[in-house]
Amino acid sequence: MTDRIQAPNRELRSLNAEEVESTLAEWGHKSYRVTQLLGWLYKKRASSIDEMSDLPQELREQLAGSFLLKPLELVKEQRSRDGTVKFLWRLADGELIESVLIPASVGREGNRSDRHTICVSSQVGCAYGCKFCASGLMGYKRNLDASEIVDQVLAVERWHLASGGELAKPQGGLVNNIVMMGMGEPLANYDNLIRALEIFNSSWGLNIGARKITVSTSGLAPQIRRLAEMPQQYHLAISLHGATDDVRDKIMPINRKYPLEELISACEAYQQAKGRMIWVEYILIDDVNTGPEQVEALSGLAKRLQCKVNLIPYNPVDGIELKRPSDETVGRFRDALHRKGVRVTVRIEKGTDIDAACGQLRLKSEKKTAVTQVVGQAG
Ligand code: SAH
Ligand code: SF4
Repeated sequence: MTDRIQAPNRELRSLNAEEVESTLAEWGHKSYRVTQLLGWLYKKRASSIDEMSDLPQELREQLAGSFLLKPLELVKEQRSRDGTVKFLWRLADGELIESVLIPASVGREGNRSDRHTICVSSQVGCAYGCKFCASGLMGYKRNLDASEIVDQVLAVERWHLASGGELAKPQGGLVNNIVMMGMGEPLANYDNLIRALEIFNSSWGLNIGARKITVSTSGLAPQIRRLAEMPQQYHLAISLHGATDDVRDKIMPINRKYPLEELISACEAYQQAKGRMIWVEYILIDDVNTGPEQVEALSGLAKRLQCKVNLIPYNPVDGIELKRPSDETVGRFRDALHRKGVRVTVRIEKGTDIDAACGQLRLKSEKKTAVTQVVGQAG
């Protein structure tokens, strides 16, 4: 046994309701304190334990002695001409992550007017190395814990309040649509992801409907099957980007581990379990995946899954030698799918003028730091 007092390292918001309950019970507090504490975290959005004025001093001291409450630090915000705002946050250990707010006013046509979307990161960097992706380019650093995932949404709300609160606020919080499409592969950080989704979704948490929460994956088939077994109706988006193993192998190394047949049958299992439609995301990259054989294969897969296909013209990334196809190529690909009876939309990327594609802002900021370091060493 050692008498050394250990500094707390677990964030309060990485606990779920049961853990808060058992911790407070262990310390001998009444059960209504649980509701009070969760209320401070997720309804009043406290950013320090000191703020929790109606909790007894003893409880606040116990909390401070065992847990951290450490909000993300805003490093940089970039506003796009179309209203999209991109945020770069610093984590407690100095690592950088990003989130993107897509206000309702710039949503796709047909969006309800009060739907503000936030694109959330799940890891620092990404281990999957897709050839077109800025997050893949920088490699994998670490998983985010649940509080670092959850606080991206809370931090955007804090930012909105502090910056004058110009966006119309739907009932509850500002953000009511969450897409796990930021940096990282959410299903590779499964346990922290599930915990964060529970906090987003629970009535004691942010109370955002499961149908308003989308998990995007590059195709981790076993984890898709695990997610299928969860009772919540989370929405699933598959980053397909190639409709044959041949093309997918070239741009997404994950395909060698879980080839298309394995991925598609996991998607079928998901659909069967949930009775819900899956989205397929397909980036169009010039001379890579825009040929007629891809139209043929993609329409076959889309019919098998009865899914909607979202086409996204590739967003150029510094240091990656891939090209966005012409509008004509995009139109031809879309029309060919449409003629085959596939429900298809073209997503016009938001915030292209601010590098809103995942990982780009962090990549640029890392490069700047690297340059500064080199200059610093030389001097
Ligand atoms: N790892 C997960 C989620 C994060 S990526 C996944 O791959 O699904 C979110 C989406 O952005 C994915 O569909 C990804 O393929 C896409 N994306 C990555 N780089 C892009 C780029 N340069 N242009 C357009 N979309 C890109
Ligand atoms: Fe990772 Fe997704 Fe980027 Fe692939 S597309 S490198 S899985 S973040």
